[in-house]
Amino acid sequence: MQQVVILGGGLTGLTAAYELAKKGLKPLVLEKEKDLGGLAGYFEHDGFKLEKFYHHIFQSDTAIIDLSKELGLDNNLKFRTSKNAMYYNDKLYNITKPLDILKLPIFTALDRIKLAKALAYLKLSNFESWMEDKSADSWLADEFGENVQKVLFRPLLESKFGRFHTDVPLTWFWARLKFRTVKLGYWDNDGFSLLIEGLKEKIEELGGQVLTGVEVKKVDATNTPIKIETNKKNFETEKLISTLPLAVSFKLIQGFFYEFAKDYLSQPYYHALNLVLLLKEPISSYYWVSLHNLDEEFLAWINHTNLVPAEQYGGLHPVYLANYLPIDDVRFTLNTDQLLKRYEKTLYKIAPDYDPKLIVKKFSFVGPYGQPIVGLNHGEKVAPIETPLENVYLASMSQVYPQDRGTNYAVDLGQKAADTVLKN
Ligand SMILES: Cc1cc2nc3c(=O)[nH]c(=O)nc-3n(C[C@H](O)[C@H](O)[C@H](O)COP(=O)(O)OP(=O)(O)OC[C@H]3O[C@@H](n4cnc5c(N)ncnc54)[C@H](O)[C@@H]3O)c2cc1C
Repeated sequence: MQQVVILGGGLTGLTAAYELAKKGLKPLVLEKEKDLGGLAGYFEHDGFKLEKFYHHIFQSDTAIIDLSKELGLDNNLKFRTSKNAMYYNDKLYNITKPLDILKLPIFTALDRIKLAKALAYLKLSNFESWMEDKSADSWLADEFGENVQKVLFRPLLESKFGRFHTDVPLTWFWARLKFRTVKLGYWDNDGFSLLIEGLKEKIEELGGQVLTGVEVKKVDATNTPIKIETNKKNFETEKLISTLPLAVSFKLIQGFFYEFAKDYLSQPYYHALNLVLLLKEPISSYYWVSLHNLDEEFLAWINHTNLVPAEQYGGLHPVYLANYLPIDDVRFTLNTDQLLKRYEKTLYKIAPDYDPKLIVKKFSFVGPYGQPIVGLNHGEKVAPIETPLENVYLASMSQVYPQDRGTNYAVDLGQKAADTVLKN
């Protein structure tokens, strides 16, 4: 029988396993995909490794920065300032610094004063409970004025949360503004794969096990030992940490009471869809471009080599075209070529230098449950790590709040889950 089994080999699961292994336990991680890393996972091309979904960290992300040091990766982690833009009504606007935003020619003098006042207020505020039942969209429209909100932040909320965007609490927006930094961090020479492989190595060195290609099909947690059925073989364990999306955990793990699960089951998710193009030449001087007209085919355009030097990719320029979408969106049914064809309508408009002949290779990736959707008073609905089922612990992305999900918070949650197991 295992001491602790961890479902999911993303950053939360791997961190939890590492923390437990450091304390002398022998954790077993079960990951259904053939590769580790989950949403922060990577692919390989011509000797380099790159995330399936664009990733960077902020200087305020202390949990992952500390972990990186512990794994001996501090020389690889580089913080750089990137240039960012928004595409609105057929034009690109530089929005790299707060001053660039204030100077946008589409705003009036009054817009600028209101914007500066409200942004400064949010940046300097600490969390206040009234933010929880205040819609971010309506508060921002009141404070900035409808003109600014329509151009600047509503498109961001709408492209990320779709029809749920008016319910997103101000808390979520405040946390994004409060903790994000201008400089962005990335691990030179193979990115987040260094953390993922580093964690796996340490877990195994300390006597733990990490199995990939093992899909958990059913968990019977009504008795001890907990019984786990997978596509490969069955396992028994004293304790279980599930880092799967909550909706998946509640489906797979038998024994939860409806009374406990019902609040968390109602939370909707969008799923991530990314097209990655490896180009011979750069097509933009911006790292991040958000698209502020919602009739475009994707919501963000990320030019990776405007953050990380192109030499690390054999001189190629990876470009991400990103979306968060409900599962019934037709774009999930398209193959990579079909997706590119569809996205080219927008790409030709935003990137005059784009030419299909520049593409060396293209990939598309789906990130299941990539964006948990938060509603008003979400703080009251965050599932606890400890559950009414003895020895069953939950540590999923939707338990990250008020921050938006992120690798730093995955590390933090993995550490908290391990601490909770150890104290019981
Ligand atoms: C498009 C996109 C961009 C992002 N950009 C950033 C960024 O710039 N910076 C940042 O910090 N964060 C970013 N994030 C968020 C970050 O990737 C996540 O917060 C983090 O990776 C979550 O880790 P996790 O381990 O909690 O979940 P996951 O990575 O989802 O891990 C869960 C794991 O469980 C596995 N699994 C599922 N079902 C089963 C089963 N039945 N049996 C066994 N295993 C199973 C999955 O395959 C997966 O590996 C981004 C996310 C997305 C989608």
